[in-house]
Amino acid sequence: MHVSYEIDAELSLQERLRFAGLRPTRQRLALASLIFAKGDRHLSAEELHEEAQVANVPVSLATVYNTLHQFTQAGMLRILAVEGAKTYFDTNISDHHHFFVEGANQVIDIPNGSTMVGSLPPVPEGMEIVNVDIIIRLRKKRG
Ligand SMILES: [Zn+2]
Repeated sequence: MHVSYEIDAELSLQERLRFAGLRPTRQRLALASLIFAKGDRHLSAEELHEEAQVANVPVSLATVYNTLHQFTQAGMLRILAVEGAKTYFDTNISDHHHFFVEGANQVIDIPNGSTMVGSLPPVPEGMEIVNVDIIIRLRKKRG
């Protein structure tokens, strides 16, 4: 039972990589299964590298970094650049916004529909809005 589940999971990841135009190498598959096995989350290259080491996947940090960017370019991940913090890669590629907890360096999804962008400025001639990224920075209340 457990074995067949793992095979199924691997097949669908292979298909996902092929569909995204990436050759499903052993290394990409190993990293993809670490990235996508735990539901929606936000992860930095350093965190993924650490998880790979724990899982005995021998990859360098540079390879992890390149793979994350390849997955992003292929539309499998969304990049989340938080000023003054690490770059995070989001497994949820749908339009959504984030809380960022300063100090804890924690990224939290804002539930869909709970943010309202009142009015957007007019965009330059010939341009259109792709999406609007909102990062609301938080800190613990003092006192
Ligand atoms: Zn997110």
